Amino acid sequence: MTPKPPDEFRNRATAYLRSKGFPKPCFVCETNSWTIEYPVVIEGLDFEVDGKTISNNNRNEALKAVCDSCGQIVLFDAMRSGLIFHSTGGLSYALDN
Ligand SMILES: [Zn+2]
Repeated sequence: MTPKPPDEFRNRATAYLRSKGFPKPCFVCETNSWTIEYPVVIEGLDFEVDGKTISNNNRNEALKAVCDSCGQIVLFDAMRSGLIFHSTGGLSYALDN
């Protein structure tokens, strides 16, 4: 069984998500059951335009909410939300409606 994240994480993430009107029904399957996971890192990908390689070293942390029914993932930018995480990975909890 996966342990729950620390209360500090749960409280801060839940308060932020609720302040934005979350949880809402999933727009894919219309159920309303979500699991909030610890943040993930989104790393930029270098890409090519007209034969020129564009370097993209952008790196963001994001809070991850996963629809328990269909698996849709909703991400919230941790920096823009003002949430600061210390990711240890692998922990999650269900967001009560
Ligand atoms: Zn869904």
